[in-house]
Amino acid sequence: MKVRLDDELCVGHGRCYALAPDVFDADDQGHCVLRFDDEDLPERFVDVAKQAVANCPEDALAMEG
Ligand code: SF4
Repeated sequence: MKVRLDDELCVGHGRCYALAPDVFDADDQGHCVLRFDDEDLPERFVDVAKQAVANCPEDALAMEG
């Protein structure tokens, strides 16, 4: 399972990396950076990644696979 980010929608609330810092990081402006860009998430991070995806106010994140 992978996480997808739409950079155009991300405004940098930071909920994703606050909820799931093992999965998401922030750039200098506080926008989301995927730690597993184009890679399958390790199984142990899938649940917390789903929570963060569901809590993005901008719908910038999605799960795939
Ligand atoms: S929660 Fe959504 S809008 Fe906020 S930083 Fe993360 S991806 Fe961007």
